[in-house]
Amino acid sequence: MPNPKRKFTRARRDSRRAKNWTLVENNLSRCTQCGVMRASHRVCPSCGFYNGKIVVVAKTKKSKGPEGGGEQKPQ
Ligand SMILES: [Zn+2]
Repeated sequence: MPNPKRKFTRARRDSRRAKNWTLVENNLSRCTQCGVMRASHRVCPSCGFYNGKIVVVAKTKKSKGPEGGGEQKPQ
């Protein structure tokens, strides 16, 4: 069985583990339409724009419509 030639010191082992533990920042970019920070390659959550056109209609606060949510059994 292959074995390591030398003992790795605690300091060396810990420093190796420490550098792998760095937090990755979310890849945010500014929306070209409204200027809100959004994740790149994702539809803007505030205006629903993606690649220069409206993809998703932005959610607006309104009272509950006829769609109650959930499945309705036909009778
Ligand atoms: Zn936007």
